[in-house]
Amino acid sequence: MEQIYDLIVLGAGPAGLAAGLYGARAGLSTLILEKGAPGGQAAQTDRVENYPGAMLEDETGDTLTARMLAQAEAFGAQKGTDEIRSLELAGEDKSLTGATGTYRARTVILATGASPRKLGCPGEETFTGQGLSYCATCDGAFFRGLEVFVVGGGDSAVEEALFLTRFARKVTIIHRRDQLRAVKSLQDKAFANEKMDFIWDSVVESLAGQDVLQTICLRNVKTGELREITADAADGMMGLFVFVGLDPNSGFLEGTLPLEKGYIKTDENMHTAIPGVFAAGDIRVKNLRQIITAAADGAIAAMEAERYLAERG
Ligand code: NAP
Repeated sequence: MEQIYDLIVLGAGPAGLAAGLYGARAGLSTLILEKGAPGGQAAQTDRVENYPGAMLEDETGDTLTARMLAQAEAFGAQKGTDEIRSLELAGEDKSLTGATGTYRARTVILATGASPRKLGCPGEETFTGQGLSYCATCDGAFFRGLEVFVVGGGDSAVEEALFLTRFARKVTIIHRRDQLRAVKSLQDKAFANEKMDFIWDSVVESLAGQDVLQTICLRNVKTGELREITADAADGMMGLFVFVGLDPNSGFLEGTLPLEKGYIKTDENMHTAIPGVFAAGDIRVKNLRQIITAAADGAIAAMEAERYLAERG
């Protein structure tokens, strides 16, 4: 007979992995479903400086989240790979249907996180993988000795720009305002780094090149002036890394749950509007999106799922 899990966790980023750990450790039969590689956005981060106790030698977001998964599995959580496309969440038994199967559970924790936002300018798709990237950890090493540009002014942009200085000859942040949004400690490091430069009040208008990215056209948002940056002839190409915020991974939830700008509304104990359905991590309406807050959400959600099940006997 088809198994009905006590708990299905959707998403294997820090929120989902913490939920899986707490659920399994509480004795719930727990399935963590993830459509791609585990670890979420954290796995694409090189340095994790602000997760308490995370600074093992050579620790990266990838190794940290791999340890989180191993820990959840050690307590009996199962890990499955599928992309859920439709959900029936209203009844006592919840049903989730993906590309390769249907999964049933008495409680569900939605922890599908958020993905990098696109620029939406001409050339973006053409040059993705041909000079343009959304992941410095994945692609930074391809740009050894080259000139690299980073779009955005938040924590991700500044943190990843600093990481890229390990490979690139020069790293220039292009930001749409005249001051960064990133936390001050990152700003201080960026301003002190000799390889870093800044172009203020500017947005990317379009991208061009022969097979690879060779020209970035910028528009000054204050003056309207257009300016072209062209790759050195000797280099033949330049890098462009985009970190302009996140979009929630909630398209598959449309019509199932009330969303606010695509994010799931919960109470402080991670309850959504549907009994037995909880949300955790970046997918939630919240102020601080960090590994530590995601993990905390996951723990709370799993304990609330356990309580919900205990009340129903
Ligand atoms: P973010 O904080 O939302 O910053 C996005 C940046 O991109 C902002 O500077 C924004 O400009 C700019 N931007 C937005 N749309 C743009 C567009 N169309 N064109 C050009 N620029 C655009 O996003 P994030 O840096 O990805 O961070 C997401 C969350 O993860 C945040 O909560 C952040 O604190 C967290 N995070 C934390 C760490 C850490 O703690 N170590 C590391 C990475 C991320 P404006 O400033 O003008 O709005």
